[in-house]
Amino acid sequence: MAIMRSVNPTTGEELATFEHDSDDVVEQKLAAASAAVPQLKAAGWARRAELMNAAADLLEADLEQVAAMITDEMGKPIAQSRGEVTKSVYAMRYYAENAEAFLSGRTLDDPSAVGATRAGTRFDPLGVVLAVMPWNYPIWQVVRFAAPALMAGNAGVLKHASNVPQAAVYLGRLFTRAGFPEGSFSTLLIGAGRVEGVIRDPRVSAVTLTGSEPAGRSVASIAGDVLKKVVLELGGSDPFIVMPSADLDAAAEMAVKARTTNNGQACINAKRFIVHTDAYAGFSEKFAQKMAQLRIGDPQDESTDIGPLATSSGRNDIVELVDDAREKGASIIVGGSFDDSADGWFYPPTVIAGITPEMRLFEEEAFGPVASLYEAASLEDALAIANSLDFGLGSAFWSSDEAEIDHAIKTIESGAVFVNGMTISYPELPFGGIKRSGYGRELSAEGIREFCNLKTVWVA
Ligand code: NAP
Repeated sequence: MAIMRSVNPTTGEELATFEHDSDDVVEQKLAAASAAVPQLKAAGWARRAELMNAAADLLEADLEQVAAMITDEMGKPIAQSRGEVTKSVYAMRYYAENAEAFLSGRTLDDPSAVGATRAGTRFDPLGVVLAVMPWNYPIWQVVRFAAPALMAGNAGVLKHASNVPQAAVYLGRLFTRAGFPEGSFSTLLIGAGRVEGVIRDPRVSAVTLTGSEPAGRSVASIAGDVLKKVVLELGGSDPFIVMPSADLDAAAEMAVKARTTNNGQACINAKRFIVHTDAYAGFSEKFAQKMAQLRIGDPQDESTDIGPLATSSGRNDIVELVDDAREKGASIIVGGSFDDSADGWFYPPTVIAGITPEMRLFEEEAFGPVASLYEAASLEDALAIANSLDFGLGSAFWSSDEAEIDHAIKTIESGAVFVNGMTISYPELPFGGIKRSGYGRELSAEGIREFCNLKTVWVA
């Protein structure tokens, strides 16, 4: 039987191994998930909220242990791991409180207009939903699916990334520990090659995937073949535009955070810094200086800003992208090289300018702490550079000019625009992308409705 390895990216040490689930075990988990759906529906709003709050309390009580596990398993600085757990607890409580209102449907004021005595809509759960999830926020990515899905009355089965099996196992137990019916939310310990069989299983109604484009394409095409609902949260190369009227100190400070949060491995990290000519020298100098000052090291150390990349293959990808740009004439302003003989998959904060369309970095996502600097001749030029890619996840726009801000909000092609800030997800706001960054939304009212049947009701 194949195994999944939990390996500490800071040291390369193997922390734990887990056997893949056999076909029989997968069958049992799918049967249990299917059997849980009518129980979840029958439980009603108040009981589901009680159980969700109980799960939130358990996760909160486990905060230190879970945060340490995240950092050990994927290398995020410990304070950010704690933040991830706290945010997950908040989202669980948020959906416990708001799910009923989000799914209350509507009633026509004048049903006689459609020849009825009563007419309107209601939201029913779809059934069992498969979640294929990435390692970069190993608790949060899962909770932001699980909390609304369970509150809506769906059951969830999780196929987590193969390099975070400890997080996968923890999450597979959390909801039943809180009292949810057996099978309501479980983890399938399987590799990517077995996802197809689960999507095709008649007991599975829908699938959500957060991850890379190739994985999204594969899952969407299989789900398309069996006509099942899909939500895709894929990659991005988010623009961070800086105009001359912006507060350049604040912009540079936020730019560093926007690029390097999660060791630079977030889908919504700002990746391309597009700066108006009149602000270029001032912003670039401040930004480069701050990037160079970041502390790289053991992510369990409270003073570390940047830990290792989560996998050696992830680091190889970054090395190749930066080397390709360097060979084709880009200027490496900060970083760009590291001590290969040291333990761990570290890569230094890096700032690169002079990127041209023949470089891979121009249109590929850099999933590590590598910032690309672009100089724009005008607002229109900046917006054109921002929109030139086929990604459209988040974006940030820095300016103090109201007319510019309005124009940018309307013009940037992305799932979100943050003005004088950085893209962040909030349970209160929908989250998702356009173009090759995916489709569908998570979080907020829109997210919980994705895996519901919006049913029209008409009574004579
Ligand atoms: P990945 O390789 O696509 O892995 C994500 C998940 O998909 C894992 O569980 C993986 O399983 C599974 N998977 C991979 N190939 C598959 C296939 N052909 N069929 C079915 N499942 C498959 O992604 P990653 O490289 O770990 O994550 C980084 C990417 O995720 C980046 O592009 C990032 O921008 C994106 N991301 C997007 C969001 C968002 O909300 N938009 C959030 C976070 C990350 P295995 O681990 O077993 O291969």
